[in-house]
Amino acid sequence: MQFKNTISSITYRIPSDSQPGAFHDVAVDPEDGRMTCPCPARGGCWHEKAIRTGLAGKPIVRVSQRPAPDPVRVSISEAGRELADMLQV
Ligand SMILES: [Zn+2]
Repeated sequence: MQFKNTISSITYRIPSDSQPGAFHDVAVDPEDGRMTCPCPARGGCWHEKAIRTGLAGKPIVRVSQRPAPDPVRVSISEAGRELADMLQV
């Protein structure tokens, strides 16, 4: 069986400037790049700005491993068989 690596989450840990020792974990959507910061400021806080401008450093990236579909099974799926009937092959 084959496995496919998929990025399940990207998180940047930004230090809080109001609370020393505290962090804001800003999540970035791996699909569309949308950012979600848990701090009270809504929409474009400086934590998100730090990521956009490259000041946030490296993100924590989680990768999940999923079994890749069996290529043989995919080729004889229902849809594939119908298409083959239509084309009379
Ligand atoms: Zn924030």
